[in-house]
Amino acid sequence: MDNILILGSGISGMGACKLAIKNNLNVRVSDNNKISEKNKNILNEFDVYWEENNHSFSNLDWVDYIIKSPGISNEIEIIREANSRQIPIISEIEFAYQFIQNSKIIAVTGSNGKTTTSKLIYSILSDAGFDVELCGNSFTSSFSEKLSYKNSKYYVLELSSFQLENIDKFQPNISILLNFSPDHLDRYNFDENKYYNTKMRIQSNQKNNNSFIYFSDDKNIMKRLDQCSDVKLFPFGTSNSSGNNVAWIDKNQLIINHKNLFTMVLHEMALQGRHNVYNSMAAGIAAKILGVNNDVLRQCLSNFKGVEHRLEPVLKLDEKLYINDSKATNCNSVFFALESVKSPVIWICGGVDKGNDYSLLDDLVKEKVDCILALGNSFEAINNHFEKICPKIFKVESMQDAVLLSHQISNPGHTILLSPACSSFDMFKDYQERGRIFKECVYNL
Ligand code: ADP
Repeated sequence: MDNILILGSGISGMGACKLAIKNNLNVRVSDNNKISEKNKNILNEFDVYWEENNHSFSNLDWVDYIIKSPGISNEIEIIREANSRQIPIISEIEFAYQFIQNSKIIAVTGSNGKTTTSKLIYSILSDAGFDVELCGNSFTSSFSEKLSYKNSKYYVLELSSFQLENIDKFQPNISILLNFSPDHLDRYNFDENKYYNTKMRIQSNQKNNNSFIYFSDDKNIMKRLDQCSDVKLFPFGTSNSSGNNVAWIDKNQLIINHKNLFTMVLHEMALQGRHNVYNSMAAGIAAKILGVNNDVLRQCLSNFKGVEHRLEPVLKLDEKLYINDSKATNCNSVFFALESVKSPVIWICGGVDKGNDYSLLDDLVKEKVDCILALGNSFEAINNHFEKICPKIFKVESMQDAVLLSHQISNPGHTILLSPACSSFDMFKDYQERGRIFKECVYNL
């Protein structure tokens, strides 16, 4: 029986532990930080050996292979030591994959849009009556945890690049690569190529009876297509000038040409914004590959509620619309948010600036933004960049100040958009807390 060491006691680690126990494997859990009381109780109940605030090397004398949680870098000492002893290291996704029985996997990755697209696919398949589960990166259950309860027919997995780092045989039936933009580069020695190549691994084990859906407008994806296995290719993009795309936009209609033709007027779609048209293309192609009929697909795309903190309309007050896009932690996401807003904008942004290149936003800010309210430490960088482009830029010390000021200086017809372009860690626990506080402040106006 295999001896497995799980590094990390978060959602992935605990899920892997439950799945290992279910399959009668010997398991230990080691966390470099404190393990929560709740998780300690679960581990004790299953009689699992655990350690906290340390990764003891002695576990390496016992272990057959390691399951590394996605948040753990490859550069820590125990991983280096395990590598030097040639102990296999896999990700939780790879581990779970060993236990599926005739299930089909739809795996979604990309720099932006993973959660929205995964949820959309899940909702289409659920509405079409499929036995489907949703799990992975942003969700509260890992793939392993879901599998430890039951084997479903379909799994929609949201995968970050970290989760793709240690896969070996993982072979989704359908893989989706939404886009590339530089992010998390600290984990990849500031080399974008390493980050992009890791994301490309989503399709590396696929065969010609599998499908790879990808965004053909993205040069960095196109440059890497020669790395593809002999998987079937399903490109989508803005137009079909190449003649190769399976989905595209034609005269304000979304077109998907697979098996039969699906068309839908863009303004009938519940998710607005060009980025969401791309997400809907990817989800729609996956649904059509799996045999979902056009009526169910159309109904779902027109009813989908969207995901909290992603271009989420909060309130219309005095003819002003407040939108919560707290999840937009990079300029690429803000680009699509600004692009999707049709009226003049008061833009609330800022937080921890991860070295943003704001020039991507220059044209949209010039065209649409009447005033910028910058939160936190990033004010200086934002002010320096935009002072020649936007006449009014104010520093705000709290979300409450930002919302109050936005209300005072805006006019009927304005959209007040929280779309930070930065992470939240200077003032908030995470982007969810930032978004919730924004919404509370708006409701309190
Ligand atoms: P992820 O899970 O990859 O972080 P989300 O679906 O949570 O992506 O969306 C995060 C943010 O990225 C949203 O606020 C939205 O503004 C932006 N976004 C969503 N889809 C796309 C896309 N296809 N291209 C670029 N930006 C996107």
